[in-house]
Amino acid sequence: MRKLISAIKNLIFPEECKCIFCGQDIPDFQNKPYCDECEKVLSFNNKNKCLVCDEPIDNEATICDVCQKNKRYFKKAFCPFVYEGVVRNAVLGYKENNQRYKAKAFAKFIVREIAESGVQIDLITFIPMTKKKEKRRSFNQSKLLAEEIGKLLNVEVVSIFNKERDDKEQKYSSYRERQEKMEGLYTLQSYPLKKSQNVLIVDDIITTCATVNYCSKLISKKVQNVYVCGIARNKLKIK
Ligand SMILES: [Zn+2]
Ligand SMILES: [Zn+2]
Repeated sequence: MRKLISAIKNLIFPEECKCIFCGQDIPDFQNKPYCDECEKVLSFNNKNKCLVCDEPIDNEATICDVCQKNKRYFKKAFCPFVYEGVVRNAVLGYKENNQRYKAKAFAKFIVREIAESGVQIDLITFIPMTKKKEKRRSFNQSKLLAEEIGKLLNVEVVSIFNKERDDKEQKYSSYRERQEKMEGLYTLQSYPLKKSQNVLIVDDIITTCATVNYCSKLISKKVQNVYVCGIARNKLKIK
């Protein structure tokens, strides 16, 4: 019954026309998918940040400590938001509450970052889920995001990675430990990658970069450059 009521409500006030951050109705969703109030408090990732991993940096440095100490197999990360406040709530709603209509809006923010950088993307792929988890969630949020980015950039989106098992939530004492635990978690399908291609790997939220870095490593020798992106950059808690 509740489902039916929400379906009817959705016909009258389509979810697709509501602010992606607070859910209130807005007049011109196609051009600006968020309200004026949210716009004022959006945590754009536009302050000083690492040139490689896009992590906000408190000082004047151009490359963060983690990127200085660890090999990055991607050339640059694009994350339009910092993962906090209304952005965090919006991303959680997208992932956990099946709010798929938000993908298109998130994709626009990411594409704007890529366009401003002048980088040319030739192929797009995404971080996979295990089949079990994808079935439970009913969709892969990174794949849907990749498809919307693909439409905007007019670039093909392909599935090239498998996730072999679900990793338990764990506390890691260091970035290196996290990286070591990644071994074998993702594998590469046989896909004809080309040496001339710039490939974009799409994730939802980027926290330690361990996942995107591991997947980048799987393809870095087979393509020209690997770029990665996510909706938001979570601040690193381990170094
Ligand atoms: Zn709003
Ligand atoms: Zn960095």
